[in-house]
Amino acid sequence: MTSDISRRRVIEMGMAAALAVPGAATGAAAAAAPAAGARRTPPAKDSIGYAVVGIGKLSIGQILPGLTRAKGAHLAALVSGNREKAQRYAREYGLPDSAIYDYENFDRIADDPSIQVVYIVLPNSMHAEFTIRAFKAGKHVLCEKPMAVTLDECERMIAAGKAANRKLMIAYRCHYEPLNLAAMRMMRSGSLGKPRLVHAVMGKQTTLSDPSDAWRLDMAMSGGGALADMGIYGINAARYLLNEEPVEVRAWAKTDRSDPRFKTVEDLVTWQMRFPSGAIGEGSSCFSQPGTMAYQAVGEDRRLVADPGCFYGGNSLVVIGGQKTTVPIVEIDQFAREMDWMADVVRGKAPLVSPGEEGLQDMRLMHAMLESVAKGGATMPTDWGYRRAFDPAAVVDLPHAGQNA
Ligand code: NDP
Repeated sequence: MTSDISRRRVIEMGMAAALAVPGAATGAAAAAAPAAGARRTPPAKDSIGYAVVGIGKLSIGQILPGLTRAKGAHLAALVSGNREKAQRYAREYGLPDSAIYDYENFDRIADDPSIQVVYIVLPNSMHAEFTIRAFKAGKHVLCEKPMAVTLDECERMIAAGKAANRKLMIAYRCHYEPLNLAAMRMMRSGSLGKPRLVHAVMGKQTTLSDPSDAWRLDMAMSGGGALADMGIYGINAARYLLNEEPVEVRAWAKTDRSDPRFKTVEDLVTWQMRFPSGAIGEGSSCFSQPGTMAYQAVGEDRRLVADPGCFYGGNSLVVIGGQKTTVPIVEIDQFAREMDWMADVVRGKAPLVSPGEEGLQDMRLMHAMLESVAKGGATMPTDWGYRRAFDPAAVVDLPHAGQNA
């Protein structure tokens, strides 16, 4: 390991600790005032240019740094409602002022050939509008999870991508990440025995005084509080671990309506999903608990425990059955890897593993869960016929893992 890599690894591990829970900010990211162009990295030949839309916690803490580590993607433009902030980050990442857009003049990206992919990192209620506008501008779209707020929005996003003949990828970083791929492969290999149960716990503490939490606690902007923000990881994990789609779900909620945070969204939601094989998925999402992104998968012979399983770094995978074995996992920059994957999709070199339809499936399941909650835990049928086009465990390799590490 060179001293450069060691230094970078130390920084990343520090980030991983500070950023254990998605949504948390790093002191470094918040305080940053580095020299102009300090983080500019010259794009490689054929590198794909990204416009990052919304300069909030995820963009500042993960996506902009991730783009400096990507092998085949680079930052080409910033889109923000805050000109001063955009100029600050443009300077830091070596972009000219001409590469800054706002939400009104966003459509001018159509005339900017340096941008090939638009990465939507806005509150969920803005995903559909900016995805559709990006497609109209002729760009490909990488959109953060959850895909949107309503099912109608998701369907319009998918239709707009098809009409523009452009790719829509939903940013499910765990589909491209070593621990989750290892867990999927273990499940597929039969080494745990026949899969019986996946149990997922996702949550964090929230505060209305943090603007990044405030919109997550607003139903109109988030589309579902903790379930939409963090529960989606558990729902998606149950599906990718079991490699099948649930035929029934039911859910319950426990929410203190006197808590000012929970005027419009549920707090604790617990759910169960029944899969055709007979396996059960169950889990919870909560906005009034310590930061947790954990799951376990129980097979007839052994179980695996991923705790944490979906943090930005520092995840742990243990197999228990007779003895306890820790599975060695290569640390990578998950965001660099995901953006590199999308760049390869655009080049026609990689399959679209997490398309809009995959985002829509989780949205439908979350909507069915909230309907079940409203109906006192009623069982909701969920077999809409969706099947994954590509199993991440089968197609996602990690050729650049060492380079992105
Ligand atoms: P933040 O609230 O920190 O940032 C959102 C940014 O959107 C703001 O900084 C702002 O940027 C812009 N924005 C435009 N209009 C509004 C508005 N009305 N209210 C608030 N912000 C607005 O959110 P995050 O960065 O944490 O999350 C953004 C997206 O990323 C969400 O969809 C979230 O679910 C997803 N996410 C995914 C994670 C993952 O691991 N994949 C982890 C964390 C979040 P500006 O000032 O530049 O206009």
